[in-house]
Amino acid sequence: MPELPEVETVRRGLVPAMEGQVIAAAQVNRPDLRWPLPARMAERLTGARIVRLGRRSKYILADLSTGETLIVHLGMSGRMLVSGVIMGRFHHDHPAPAKHDHVVFDMEGGARVTFNDARRFGAMDLTPTAQVDRHWLLAGLGPEPLGNAFHEDYLVARLRGRMTPIKAALLDQRVVAGLGNIYVCEVLYRAGISPRRKAGRIAAPRVAGLVPVIRDVLSEAIAAGGSSLRDYRQSDGELGYFQHDFRAYGREGAPCRTPGCVGQIVRIVQSGRSTFYCPQCQR
Ligand SMILES: [Zn+2]
Repeated sequence: MPELPEVETVRRGLVPAMEGQVIAAAQVNRPDLRWPLPARMAERLTGARIVRLGRRSKYILADLSTGETLIVHLGMSGRMLVSGVIMGRFHHDHPAPAKHDHVVFDMEGGARVTFNDARRFGAMDLTPTAQVDRHWLLAGLGPEPLGNAFHEDYLVARLRGRMTPIKAALLDQRVVAGLGNIYVCEVLYRAGISPRRKAGRIAAPRVAGLVPVIRDVLSEAIAAGGSSLRDYRQSDGELGYFQHDFRAYGREGAPCRTPGCVGQIVRIVQSGRSTFYCPQCQR
């Protein structure tokens, strides 16, 4: 499932193909993904210029010259494929239409962007740009983890008195937007905080210390995604899924990598999701 760094990687990969460009033709091949697609979606997109390709949490936001914003969520299995000519620099031939190619954008510059989603947990909607923050998918989101509104004082105040485990608190999208299971495990591992500890029982300086760790973990993953973008130009044009070296996630039974620690990574289940951590050095 794509998390924030993967979505940001997809966004950056789409920018050369889409930002500033007119959608010459939009093809919508089914009426719904996770939810119904907006009415007359193809007509509302065709001829519109994408003036800005942004991101909020795990949503890609394409601001259109028509005053609407296209909201895109990749869901569990959604993927974006870029083919054709992108700024004259590289070229992938258009692949034959595939079974789960649900939405296809042909850009005036010659690029084709295909949204393929086998499981259809993805979503797209159109909403007035001026009200995008009030859209039901975005309205309840907390601050961006890499933005200025997310800082030490904010997180300390937000978690004060909370008796949920710190892992659940960081997964709460109202606390901070876009953090998912994998990266929360990595953050708590690096911070040396047990995922089972109640958020409100952690000393304020340790909670504050989570902020730079969250920024580092996400920034490093986005940088790794950037490296993968250079590769995709030589491969098949698919964006956003890259190999990443996790220190805790998925390493059950492996030795802890914290210097001086002789523990090993264990897996537990919290709120139905896997948590990986080192009981020796995460307290
Ligand atoms: Zn350890």
